[in-house]
Amino acid sequence: RAPRAPYADPAAGAAVKATDRAHVFHSWSAQGLIDPLAVAGAEGAYFWDYDGNRYLDFTSGLVFTNIGYQHPAVVAAIQEQAGRLTTFAPAFAIEARSEAARMIAERTPGDLDKIFFTNGGAEAVENAVRMARVHTGRTKVLSAYRSYHGATSTAINLTGDPRRWASDTGSAGVVRFWAPFLYRSPFYASTEAEECARALRHLEDTLAFEGPSTVAAVVLETVPGTAGIMPPPPGYLAGVREICDRYGIVFVLDEVMAGFGRTGRWFAADHDEVVPDLMTFAKGVNSGYVPLGGVAINAEIAATFETRPYPGGLTYSGHPLACAAAVATLRVMEEERTVEAAAHLGEHVLGPGLRELAERHPSVGEVRGLGAFWALELVRDRETREPLVPYNATGEANAPMAAFGAACRKNGLWPFINMNRTHVVPACNITEEEAKEGLAALDTALFAADEHT
Ligand code: PMP
Repeated sequence: RAPRAPYADPAAGAAVKATDRAHVFHSWSAQGLIDPLAVAGAEGAYFWDYDGNRYLDFTSGLVFTNIGYQHPAVVAAIQEQAGRLTTFAPAFAIEARSEAARMIAERTPGDLDKIFFTNGGAEAVENAVRMARVHTGRTKVLSAYRSYHGATSTAINLTGDPRRWASDTGSAGVVRFWAPFLYRSPFYASTEAEECARALRHLEDTLAFEGPSTVAAVVLETVPGTAGIMPPPPGYLAGVREICDRYGIVFVLDEVMAGFGRTGRWFAADHDEVVPDLMTFAKGVNSGYVPLGGVAINAEIAATFETRPYPGGLTYSGHPLACAAAVATLRVMEEERTVEAAAHLGEHVLGPGLRELAERHPSVGEVRGLGAFWALELVRDRETREPLVPYNATGEANAPMAAFGAACRKNGLWPFINMNRTHVVPACNITEEEAKEGLAALDTALFAADEHT
């Protein structure tokens, strides 16, 4: 069991870090410029380092610990499965795997009743696109500029996030469009209804010029996450559903980040009662305790592969440890009413608390989100909405956000920072006191951002 905070063993921490720096090659980083914190342990909404510092985690890792760290029921289920059957190849029927699939299918909307398992989100997106292409016999795929779908070949091509620039091959068949985002509307719309109507017309126009009969799928994050937590305007998802139906295009909703309670419903699509043809998931499915992701498949696409083999697979598809963790996580979420807790947190604690911060801090341009899924858009000027740091800023240009981050950490809060935004994405089951502790730390840290307005 991890030592609880307060806990101090700086020498052990220094050794862990030295070995890390010698041998671990980190994601998305210039290896010589990073200084990763050595983490000694974690529990619930908190983690702690080797110097006796404890942090309230407002990132949920990478937005995956929806039930917090080290939930004893999930840890026990993983241990139990390890004792019984640690691993087994995917072609066999394994209790943990079939039970996880049944429980996921029961919660996904509509007829999304078959589950293809992967080890994470990007693989889920890769396979959803493959299914759509084989099912339709078409190749083109449309995705939104403000999006993140993963770092593998097709997933990074679909991604709009600038992290794709370095590896984007501009692969044939991927076309990006502008999904709605009122605060920085690409159509200069001034109301949600206007932004929605113009975004749907833009999608229609894009399809018309691409040739709808050549398009296999439209892939959207239900609530774009990494790109800024942007709940779609009412009617948008239903509109996309209708367009896809009209042209026989597969509608893929990526719920890797928004799914499994994050938005206060099991899936973000539940808010609009929209049922996609394929839905990708990962992260919250088992709170990230063991890598797991997948695609939930509707009856029509599943039927395509009844007599025709599905051309895809993964060695660790539906790994028993990951599936046992999913079964236990879903039971915990049911018993502890985690989804309802996230909804309550958004409506009564985080939403009002963050809006109050916006009133006090001129650097907060917009507060948006729902459930345990919020973003603060930090700006130099509320009128012009000029971002606090330029798009994709690094080094000196990013100094205001770096100062804000440092102030958060000094106040015991680990923030999620992306460009000019901080995302408030704690575990869905944090207590009201924990949330308020985090809001107070944000309040103090925002003065560092206000200095740049
Ligand atoms: N889709 C979405 C919406 C995501 O947020 C992410 C990860 N942040 C992915 C896909 C990729 O998931 P993974 O990193 O597990 O491959």
